[in-house]
Amino acid sequence: MTTTVLELARAAYRGISLYAPNRAPAAIDLGDNTNLWGVPPAAMRAISNATTASVTRYPSLYAADLKRAIAGYLGVTPDMIVTGCGSDDILDSTIRAFGVPGDIVACPDPSFAMIPILSRMNGLACEEIPLTDSNDADVARYIATGATINYLCSPNNPTGTAFSRDVIECVVSNAKGVVIIDEAYAEFNSWNCIDLLQRSDRVVITRTLSKAFGLAGLRIGYAVGDPFLVAEIEKSRGPYKVSSIAERAAVAAVTEDRAWVDERVREAIANRKRLIDALSELGLSSLHSDSNFVLVPVANAEDLDRALRNGGIAVRPFTSLPRIGDALRISVGPWSMLEQCVVALKGLIA
Ligand code: PMP
Repeated sequence: MTTTVLELARAAYRGISLYAPNRAPAAIDLGDNTNLWGVPPAAMRAISNATTASVTRYPSLYAADLKRAIAGYLGVTPDMIVTGCGSDDILDSTIRAFGVPGDIVACPDPSFAMIPILSRMNGLACEEIPLTDSNDADVARYIATGATINYLCSPNNPTGTAFSRDVIECVVSNAKGVVIIDEAYAEFNSWNCIDLLQRSDRVVITRTLSKAFGLAGLRIGYAVGDPFLVAEIEKSRGPYKVSSIAERAAVAAVTEDRAWVDERVREAIANRKRLIDALSELGLSSLHSDSNFVLVPVANAEDLDRALRNGGIAVRPFTSLPRIGDALRISVGPWSMLEQCVVALKGLIA
């Protein structure tokens, strides 16, 4: 490559690597926190009954039917909802809508790996703030950044723990800019932050249908917030981001499959405890989880990950996390899958 071609890349892009966790297929995949029980039935029927027009014609511009369905699910008005191609897209659109190059995004460390990448791609600096000893967001440091965008993730990925309600409220009341609360795993927690929208017009809550709703392959995410903020996010989201088939399946899931989803969530919560207990019997002490995954600190995550993969089991390894060190993040699914992971780990750490 000539020097001139290299110079075509934006300076901020040169330091960014492609987000590419090891997604090689595995017989048992506990690596991405999707719904391991399958597809909600009404959503599957909507996919099977797809019409020719849903393939040959463009989808709706801004997925109005889906906005209405999600608004009904959350008990808010449709003008408070914006949808996107996964919540990755919604987070990207939100950062781009409110931050100008040079602004700061405040983000917990560790947290969702895409946030520093999306910040830098949009020309913003990401200030990563270590979690407190109780895996909570550090309010004082958030406020001190004066960030234009304050990102909170609750329950947090990869720790699995929800931030405390007081801490979230304190950031919302005192931070200067927009507050994004990423609730990708909200369905697995006993509480959520939707009511905060009545108290503050600076809060944007992002959610996804990739986790509890089992539709990761369809790529549907959404944000809920004040209609003015939502309209700004929708501008940067742009038209045609959700395909017709994805929109129909998502509407079916949100309006007709709630009992199915709730039952899977109940199973996930029960199996989460069972997994934590089984790991503890192996001498592995996991972090408290309010999500559909468990983070378990280990001596050498990469070695264990490699050995598990050789046995057909994928988990997500993390190395040198602040205060935590190496750890494996294990998605919670049907017990038959988790049991095989526990048995394999028992053999490896013996
Ligand atoms: N936020 C968090 C905290 C996540 O863990 C993920 C996916 N791993 C996302 C957002 C993105 O999810 P999606 O783009 O599938 O909606």
